[in-house]
Amino acid sequence: MRELPCYPGSPPQGFTGERTMDRKYQFSWDLLGDISQGRPNLGPVTRLEVYRLMQFCLRDVLEQNLGKQKADEVFYQAGYLAGSEFFNNVLGPQDDFNEFVRSLQNALKEMGVGILRVEEADLETGSFVVTVSEDLDCSGLPELDYEICIYDEGFIAGLMESFTGRKFKVKEVDCWCTGDRTCRFTAQVID
Ligand SMILES: [Zn+2]
Repeated sequence: MRELPCYPGSPPQGFTGERTMDRKYQFSWDLLGDISQGRPNLGPVTRLEVYRLMQFCLRDVLEQNLGKQKADEVFYQAGYLAGSEFFNNVLGPQDDFNEFVRSLQNALKEMGVGILRVEEADLETGSFVVTVSEDLDCSGLPELDYEICIYDEGFIAGLMESFTGRKFKVKEVDCWCTGDRTCRFTAQVID
């Protein structure tokens, strides 16, 4: 099984106890189901409020149960798992960086996740800056004094690691919620 990363700044215990447990909810792409069969009238699209309602209520309860730091770690790891699965099941094998970015941009736009741009890419040092506009998770939210797209940080880390085979630390540095009109992420190789 893919090893989940630690959220930056959290103690390294992660989910180590869980990996040896009997699993009930291990993710597989099949769990997303046959939507054309299951929703012949409503189809694959839902209202964004419903997605945010689920995500933000889940985060509220995670924080109440586990604390702020652990809740952030869970979101980062869930995003990482999702990014890895998205790479394998939506994008497929990629060997050219520009082609990888193009496929990713198209998929994220087509699925209504956001508009991705790569601002800086240094393949030799493994240093990247990407922006996501009209982001699924945060565009239009009230202004806060912190960046909130921790799931997206993990998602980008999962994608970058799947493409390069190297470990990444991803940090959101600008967010709709901190007054910017796009989310900006730094991604840096850490191995
Ligand atoms: Zn954001």
